[in-house]
Amino acid sequence: GATIGVLGGGQLGRMMALAGTAMGYRFVTLDPTPDSPCGQVTPQIEAGYGDEEAARKLAAGSDVITYEFENVDAGVAALLERESYVPQGSALLYTTQHRLREKQAIEAAGVPVAPYREVTDLQSLIIAAGELGLPCVLKTATGGYDGKGQAVIRTADELETAYRELAASGRELVLEKFIAFAAEISVIAARSPKGEIKSFPVSENIHVNGILHLSIVPARVEESIQREARKLAERLAESLNVAGLLAVEMFVAEDGGLYVNEVAPRPHNSGHYTMEACATSQFEQHIRAICNLPLGDTTLLSPVVMVNVLGQHLEEAVKLAGVSDPSLNEFGVVPKLHLYGKTESKTGRKMGHINVLCKDVQHALDWVEQTHIWRQG
Ligand code: ATP
Ligand code: MG
Ligand code: MG
Repeated sequence: GATIGVLGGGQLGRMMALAGTAMGYRFVTLDPTPDSPCGQVTPQIEAGYGDEEAARKLAAGSDVITYEFENVDAGVAALLERESYVPQGSALLYTTQHRLREKQAIEAAGVPVAPYREVTDLQSLIIAAGELGLPCVLKTATGGYDGKGQAVIRTADELETAYRELAASGRELVLEKFIAFAAEISVIAARSPKGEIKSFPVSENIHVNGILHLSIVPARVEESIQREARKLAERLAESLNVAGLLAVEMFVAEDGGLYVNEVAPRPHNSGHYTMEACATSQFEQHIRAICNLPLGDTTLLSPVVMVNVLGQHLEEAVKLAGVSDPSLNEFGVVPKLHLYGKTESKTGRKMGHINVLCKDVQHALDWVEQTHIWRQG
């Protein structure tokens, strides 16, 4: 079988490798952390992501290369494309690494984003806030994740503090209008180089402290909005010439209108529910897409709620997820625990997730609620 090289050895790489190994592929990962989540299940080249010598070694040992995060160094991306086969290419990385470029690409596909302005200094922030109206969200254009590198601005006297705080990063800034959303949803679409496109069912996402907490599928959002969301995600995958997965985060406004928040050219936390709940998991679909195989069936087999397990939830979650016999719990749910093998557990760190399979998402939400552990934030 062919060998797939994975740039990045986190949980997304690990779950890609686990799915792809079952399909007969071999894997190798490049990651600076010894004993990385992916490195525990594949050989690992232990080196920094910007290390060209290590990237060359990854290219030499791989028939196909993929990445599990989007902040890949441009020089390394170009090197990998020259010396191996990177079906996802580096153009999409360049676009999605930077919020302004990303928003422009989404708009060019005819897909709406929240109104935004580029911010270059405090004066331009004040002008932009005047044009967009408050509340707004100031974000670094690059490097943000889990809600880090952003600040909500509710009143004019918060403008300067927000500016100083984020400008200290030295990164470019963008101001977005705050969307008073009725729901947050995401759609993961897959596209293969030969142009086949399939999307997964819509996930409704609930964040706590900027980190994804729950994904609820089916989303509690009107059918027609869900159809539209999948159509937009598929249109973006086509327009951005995606090979592999494209995760599309969206806001559902009070009036039912959809705005894309951001996209990621890789498997996504909000797609972990597919592992047990869909005919094909997002990880298998990603491997299928980059290897130009026919895409898998994305049918939802069971309602599901995905709960992220952070460091502070780990111990309790392991106990709770032991009760997987629906006859033994009054909620009739089947909680399936996935752990990432991270050697150090820390507050706020993603250690694993539980896919709570259920007859109705309310049963799974009631199960989550009665466990109490997730209320600690
Ligand atoms: P991720 O971990 O998903 O990559 P991130 O750090 O890139 O997160 P965003 O997805 O931009 O950050 O924002 C994190 C969360 O903050 C969103 O899921 C949403 O709940 C809230 N948020 C961000 N931008 C806006 C906005 N313009 N209006 C309303 N809420 C917002
Ligand atoms: Mg993001
Ligand atoms: Mg996000």
